[in-house]
Amino acid sequence: MAKLINGKEISAAVKQRIAREVSEIKQKGVTPGLAVIIVGNDPASEVYVGSKERTCKELGMYSEKYALPADTSEDELLALIDRLNNDDKIHGILCQLPLPKHLDEKAVINAIDPRKDVDAFHPQNVGHIMIGDYDFLPCTPAGIMEMLRYENIETSGKHCVVIGRSNIVGKPMAMLMLHANSTVTICHSKTENLKEICREADILIAAVGRARFVTADMVKKGAVVIDVGMNRPADGKLCGDVDFENVEPLCSAITPVPGGVGPMTIATLMQNTLTAAKATLR
Ligand code: NAP
Repeated sequence: MAKLINGKEISAAVKQRIAREVSEIKQKGVTPGLAVIIVGNDPASEVYVGSKERTCKELGMYSEKYALPADTSEDELLALIDRLNNDDKIHGILCQLPLPKHLDEKAVINAIDPRKDVDAFHPQNVGHIMIGDYDFLPCTPAGIMEMLRYENIETSGKHCVVIGRSNIVGKPMAMLMLHANSTVTICHSKTENLKEICREADILIAAVGRARFVTADMVKKGAVVIDVGMNRPADGKLCGDVDFENVEPLCSAITPVPGGVGPMTIATLMQNTLTAAKATLR
């Protein structure tokens, strides 16, 4: 039976440490503050934003939420970001994606002060990640790295296959695994012989966005499988990109969905907000 990598347990340990550091920095007169902007009423986005706000409170951080109507203009949104960029109470700014179609995500990401870009989506921060010299790490990939460290999973010299090449998950994930000395293969929708490539993986990371996409015949015996996917198929039950039931018996370790990668993403966001607040003390 595979070791279950428990994201709830690991994120609780991370959050406990963050809460301690928050109370220390508060004694120096700084309360880490996060502003979360949500435009429109996408139900999944509302759930994510709600849990980010709750976690801020839980850790003693300050938070502001801006729920803007779906027809908010780009100028209005950029004006809000500009105001938050110049607000000393706010150390992190997050604009929940996806945005309504009439808004240019690139312009919005570029408008956030890179020092407050706690999602690490700004091109300046993406460049830092590429070089391996960074303050902020993208939340989901960094959360996964924390899980691997916590479970003492060796990355050096291992073959890591990442399925997915999004800017948010796949690409930065591959880069962090490269920094951790893995040999990395990135797969995507045009990859040929996907099954064979995946079967070579010592560490297989699925960020596809397709329910139960990774099947048992794609997994090498003893592999570590990390499931980033959050899918709601027709039955309405949240599930990952991995066919957990049939893949789990083959693995040495695996993350469940829910309770795997998801909680780590939020913990890293809190870490990034704390890092941004600490930087103001320098
Ligand atoms: P995305 O932007 O839609 O990217 C999906 C990637 O999968 C793309 O690179 C795509 O390839 C690739 N892909 C699609 N079909 C494929 C196929 N048949 N074979 C091989 N590759 C295929 O999604 P994302 O934002 O990276 O998110 C991926 C999943 O993670 C989603 O379920 C999302 O909800 C979840 N997620 C979870 C968390 C968390 O905290 N747990 C955070 C973020 C995202 P192309 O580039 O060729 O199109």
